[in-house]
Amino acid sequence: MALLVKQAWRLLHNPEAKWVQILKGIYFPFSNPMSVPKCKQGSWAWSSLQEGLSFLSQDIRWNIGNGNGVMIWEDKWIPTLPSFKISSPRPMGSNFYLVKQLINESSWNITLLQTLFSEEEVKAICQIPLSFHHCADSLVWHPSKNGDYIVKLGYHRLMQNKRQNQAASSSRQEEGNETIWSNIWSLKTLPKIRNFIWKACHNVVPSNENLARRRHSNTAGCLRCGDNTESIEHIIFFCPFSQAIWRASTFHYSPALMGFGSFASWWQEVGSLFKDDDSFSSQSLLAWTVWGIWKARNAWIFERSCDSPVHVWNAIFKDFTEYQQLQNVSLDSLSCPSHTSSWAPPPPNFLKINCDASFSNSRKYAGIAAVVRNSNGIVVDGINAQVHASSAHVAECLALRLGSTLIEQHDWQQVIVESDCKHAIDMINGRTSDTWEAKVIVSDIRSLIANEPNVTFSFVSRLNNQVADWVARTTLRGVCPPQWTQLIPYDLYHLM
Ligand SMILES: [Zn+2]
Repeated sequence: MALLVKQAWRLLHNPEAKWVQILKGIYFPFSNPMSVPKCKQGSWAWSSLQEGLSFLSQDIRWNIGNGNGVMIWEDKWIPTLPSFKISSPRPMGSNFYLVKQLINESSWNITLLQTLFSEEEVKAICQIPLSFHHCADSLVWHPSKNGDYIVKLGYHRLMQNKRQNQAASSSRQEEGNETIWSNIWSLKTLPKIRNFIWKACHNVVPSNENLARRRHSNTAGCLRCGDNTESIEHIIFFCPFSQAIWRASTFHYSPALMGFGSFASWWQEVGSLFKDDDSFSSQSLLAWTVWGIWKARNAWIFERSCDSPVHVWNAIFKDFTEYQQLQNVSLDSLSCPSHTSSWAPPPPNFLKINCDASFSNSRKYAGIAAVVRNSNGIVVDGINAQVHASSAHVAECLALRLGSTLIEQHDWQQVIVESDCKHAIDMINGRTSDTWEAKVIVSDIRSLIANEPNVTFSFVSRLNNQVADWVARTTLRGVCPPQWTQLIPYDLYHLM
């Protein structure tokens, strides 16, 4: 089935292909394939494709480029709304049909949005980044990061659908993979925590779902929130209590249920995002957080302890820092900025632009900044702004685009652009595929620097990006002095 869906995805994405043209001639000459009702006379191949299309339609939506081909009320195009669609009714006699009509140049026409939609919808729309060069709209499959349909993820999605009806699913065992295990055993943390992560990856933790399957418990549900299935994923990520802990944490993170695979695939994914380096043991903190959430769940069930999510997070962080101190790991960069930055100036005749973003998850708002310094470490220019953003990842990409606009404006030829967001840098450098949420931004960056062969993008640790971080943080809080590039504030100077 997952492969069939892949074929359906190809049908949507290659309208010019010969086989698609043939099917179009027979089954949907004047409409789009998603809107064709199922018919008994269809060939076996077409009926199977329709099955695939119907599965896809749950999660397919538009990624806005210029908004030319997307209908405001009919189409799915807002990634952070539950159905991806506008639910405010179309005003009587309205002349607005296409998303393009809601856009002024490269920004949303907020005054117009406010007259047409609810406050929540306006907020969600403002989080959609717009392209500077009006690239075309594209269809994306929401659960995957880059918007392409992925058979493996599709398979998880199918399984997830299935599991809602029948509790058992043994598919997860397959995910065992050498890299996960070696990564778990090299974690800098307590053995019991490594053990727990290993068990969670294998789905052998005594969750109610697992106990009920082995008939050790009468209920498979979550006793805390009443959800039907208390799986390991529910305990760690999706129980409202756990979500609150993640939001309170320094990760400001809350995983989306849609498209979520399993604990093992999550661990593998975040493992590559949060690689431990010398200054910041993020992965280890992640493991402590998972463990802390599990402990809090047990305390609630067995001891009826009802600590608040913030309290649980503080306890996790305290345990983690104490452990790190015992291990003589420097935590300077975690709690307060260290002053031993080893930022390296660019070579003579080059400029270096450090970019960073500070993101508020609750406000879906970010401060973004780019600081330009020459080979003597002197600040020669800089730019900062407050922007809407749907995630920290998007905000980091927006900061990089802001920095890249300076390159184009001044026609600088030799520039090194640095960011502490490895994922964003990898995307710009083509080492990983673009995420759908940042697609238009990365495409703008590429076109801004298209004629500059001596502009490079590289990853730098947070420690060496503190100057841009300071500007981004103060910008988010609205306290960055307007003349900061000329009259450098003492706190900023101190970081240089
Ligand atoms: Zn729950």
